[in-house]
Amino acid sequence: MKLEVIGDPVLHSKSPAIHGAMLAALGLDVPYTAHVVRRGELPDYLRWARDSGVTGFNATMPHKEDLLPLLDEIDPAAKTVGAVNTVCLRDGRWVGFSTDGAGAVAALRDGLGVEPAGLTATLLGAGGAARAVALALSAAGARVWVCNRTLSRAQALCRQDPHRRAMPMDFAPATLAHLCRESGLLVNCTNLGMAGCPRQFEKLDFLDALPDGAAVFDLIYHPAETELLARARRRGLNTLNGLPMLVNQAVLALEHFLDRPLDRKAMGSAAAAALAPARNTRPF
Ligand code: NAP
Repeated sequence: MKLEVIGDPVLHSKSPAIHGAMLAALGLDVPYTAHVVRRGELPDYLRWARDSGVTGFNATMPHKEDLLPLLDEIDPAAKTVGAVNTVCLRDGRWVGFSTDGAGAVAALRDGLGVEPAGLTATLLGAGGAARAVALALSAAGARVWVCNRTLSRAQALCRQDPHRRAMPMDFAPATLAHLCRESGLLVNCTNLGMAGCPRQFEKLDFLDALPDGAAVFDLIYHPAETELLARARRRGLNTLNGLPMLVNQAVLALEHFLDRPLDRKAMGSAAAAALAPARNTRPF
């Protein structure tokens, strides 16, 4: 058995550390390495991987969508999202899964005690991560306002929602404040606030409109606390960064690779422990 994460860039990926820690905790001597695969190289990579004994891989940018037509089978949740982040070789067939959305919902449940069923959520962004999270929240029973700078992308995302609980909105401060008033959860799925991203939210006043007791989830984990989370915390709201989602999606991916259920809490702890010293992250 041999596992990889592919992408470009990929050498910064936390996946080898996370999966390495989980595999070690299971007592399995399975290599998991990062492999630079450029856009356009996927068909060659799939041939090479099969010949080289790779039994599964995670995919990051720019491959999550390009993989779809190249696989033999795609899990229904990944089909809805239109992207895969986990691919396993099963009986000689490449099978694709998406664990980002389920990882986010698990992080919200475990980290904040948030149950999506019946909840109204304001979600910022309509990129790949937003699509996975919005569709998973909707599938779990939440009503999701998808607010994006480019409205057409929010509209396209919501058209993909089979449950019709995701609704497109613009990104104007007044819109965000209006929606926050009705929301028990705010999720940031944009790049704003991420280390290395030159842009920040121009205003965070919309946080003041959230009801007391609301939760704020930022998918970003570097920095461990974005300006958005710091302000939400100062307001007394419940906050969570993106690290538990990163860890949870990896635990779910490893369950696919090994084709068996795992002790998710034990796996999450092993993975978090492997990351904590490097990132000075909060426990969760
Ligand atoms: P993406 O596909 O490039 O989407 C980026 C989103 O951010 C788009 O909705 C974009 O809006 C919006 N955006 C960018 N700059 C903006 C600005 N100046 N003002 C307003 N909106 C802006 O990226 P992604 O893959 O979805 O990732 C988004 C974030 O999630 C990143 O910070 C990433 O690190 C994080 N993430 C975390 C995890 C985890 O496990 N915790 C997993 C995946 C991603 P437009 O459509 O208008 O361009």
